[in-house]
Amino acid sequence: MNANTDPFTAPFGSLFGDQFTVATLDVGGDYTYPGHAVPLENFSLHPATHALHYGSTCFEGLKAHRQVDGSLAVFRLADHAARMVRSIAGLRMQVPDVDLIQTMIVDSVEANASFTPSAPGSLYVRPTLIGTLPIIGAAAAPSDSAILYVITCPVGDYFAGGIRPLTIHIETEIPRTTPQFGTIKGGANYVMALGPTLDAKRDHAADQVLFAPGGDITETGASNFFLVDDQRIITRHLDNSFLHGVTRASLLTLATDLGYEIEERAVPIEELRAWAEHGEAFLSGTAAVVAPVGTVSILGEQLQIGDGQPGTNTLRLRDALTNIQLGKVDDPYGWLTTIPG
Ligand SMILES: *Cc1c(COP(=O)(O)O)cnc(C)c1O
Repeated sequence: MNANTDPFTAPFGSLFGDQFTVATLDVGGDYTYPGHAVPLENFSLHPATHALHYGSTCFEGLKAHRQVDGSLAVFRLADHAARMVRSIAGLRMQVPDVDLIQTMIVDSVEANASFTPSAPGSLYVRPTLIGTLPIIGAAAAPSDSAILYVITCPVGDYFAGGIRPLTIHIETEIPRTTPQFGTIKGGANYVMALGPTLDAKRDHAADQVLFAPGGDITETGASNFFLVDDQRIITRHLDNSFLHGVTRASLLTLATDLGYEIEERAVPIEELRAWAEHGEAFLSGTAAVVAPVGTVSILGEQLQIGDGQPGTNTLRLRDALTNIQLGKVDDPYGWLTTIPG
């Protein structure tokens, strides 16, 4: 356990709520869930556990926010649960009822509600599935036993000390992952993106890598990519090359409401050069919400985006989203699920 127990200064995700929800799938059965959270504890796993050898694991990441009225609400619960079902199906594992995932998330958040810091902090929620089949010979078989669980982390502001514009390196050769795993939030993808990301940190002083195989922009290791100016917002169209972010979808909806033109299409890296002169760029994801991009390292050149500082359109979109998440404005799309208790 980390000695630093302040969510605003401890590393993101290093602190945990003391309860979790757990369901188990036994071979030939269905997921069984006792119906309530239990104290967080270690698992005992056979050393042959499928997830440890063959990567049969996936997860979700969503947040519960303390509302301005003091209650607690989960942001876009149904969308995250539905995406987890798709990830599990992509691992070819037995799919739990989407309602079970939702219930386990709500129960876990409710049990850990007291750990939720006030805004801009939140309770980060991490539903996870691991394949537990203890058979080394099952390399080419799905794990038909599993543990599904939901842990929580009190987290502070991702940008402690203020929003800092990121430097991103554009990788034009190596893809983030393989097409059949592009839309799956599976552990395998993150370790695949790690090598290129560490190399770019070392060689280009980059915070993140934007994967653009063949010059075609997809996303970074864990966030979606946007261009925005005073009129329009541009991001890659939904295809199987990248993870379809809930934050991405939310921002497009809000941008439409704010009067921006939406362009969901292929974004070639050549477009960045002209864009950098007048427009803004940012990354989106649940953890950081919206992260401005200040500098792009592209084919050996450092390109400053705008004046290198967070742009007004980027911050406007960020505020539009966090205002809904925190209950500061109406929730016209029903994105919030209020947690009882
Ligand atoms: C989780 C994730 C995102 C962001 O998705 P959100 O639903 O917005 O949190 C983007 N890309 C990858 C690869 C991710 O794993």
